[in-house]
Amino acid sequence: MASTPRTTPRTPPVTVRASAKVNLALGVGPRAEDGFHPLATVFEAVGLHDTITAGPRDDDVIAVTVEGPEADLVPTDESNLAYRAAELLRSRCADPHLGVDLHITKSIPVAGGMAGGSADAAGALLACSVLWDIDAGPGDLHDLAAELGSDVPFALIGGVALGRGRGDRLVPVIFRGTHHWVFATSEEGLSTPAVYRRFDELGGGGGDLVPTALIAALTRGDIDAVAGGLGNDLQEAALDLRPELAGVLEAGVEAGAMAGLISGSGPTVAFLVGGEAIGRTVAKTLRTLPQVSSVRGARGPAQGAQLMAGTLEAGS
Ligand code: ATP
Repeated sequence: MASTPRTTPRTPPVTVRASAKVNLALGVGPRAEDGFHPLATVFEAVGLHDTITAGPRDDDVIAVTVEGPEADLVPTDESNLAYRAAELLRSRCADPHLGVDLHITKSIPVAGGMAGGSADAAGALLACSVLWDIDAGPGDLHDLAAELGSDVPFALIGGVALGRGRGDRLVPVIFRGTHHWVFATSEEGLSTPAVYRRFDELGGGGGDLVPTALIAALTRGDIDAVAGGLGNDLQEAALDLRPELAGVLEAGVEAGAMAGLISGSGPTVAFLVGGEAIGRTVAKTLRTLPQVSSVRGARGPAQGAQLMAGTLEAGS
């Protein structure tokens, strides 16, 4: 990766849109000696988006600002995943004196099991690589993404993909059709490490087996078989920590969803629905539940981190 730093305070800002994910299947093997659990997961990117804008600075500061209804839950210091992405990219590929103003417009639920922080990291990698004029190919960005977190490589590519290892060894899955989703979020997030700890205490799940029937159903575009193949080995642990989510799952399915499951480590509950009309009915029911803080509809599969239209033209 070579860079010819050409950023000046007059370089136009670069905006990237990054998507949330839902795990259609999340098979988790027993905790390994390195503390990680081997995974076989099918990710789907869905149409809930954060935007990350990278603006030039004339000093070497990486500054983060966040806006959106849950902005107060997101750190703006060096623990922000977008900050860490910019810092890693700069340390490996760019002039160490380059700075950036990172502005995140947050729409993906925070600590909701939808990999919002990972989406912001992927977005910051892409936005800063353009702002700083770094000649980084997809393989280079993937390697940096994997260093930042297990879900970050998928946030770069989007679509549907099988993830092995920690979820970072990706193979795209061919899919047909559009999926309609309804997501029910909770006021309070769930910590992913806490869910894995409870998973271990409960004795583990089905193992990191590749869900071949689900992958075949995605490729055929057989929505009934996709609904039947959804599964999450972390669900039992998430429900053990948040028993009130069982009622959300039940209510969504009773209201007409084809299937419901906890998204990743939760607490967001994801419902696959047969279309937009039934999605509205399911959403209406979910909004009446006291344990649900908001309900959002989205389509999938969505794209991964994308430069927003106009960004390149403005920068050329
Ligand atoms: P995953 O599905 O990958 O386990 P998640 O969706 O459950 O993640 P995130 O929204 O990514 O959770 O955030 C988890 C925690 O990470 C937050 O509580 C917050 O303190 C911290 N964090 C760091 N950077 C970010 C960011 N850019 N956006 C949101 N949270 C962030």
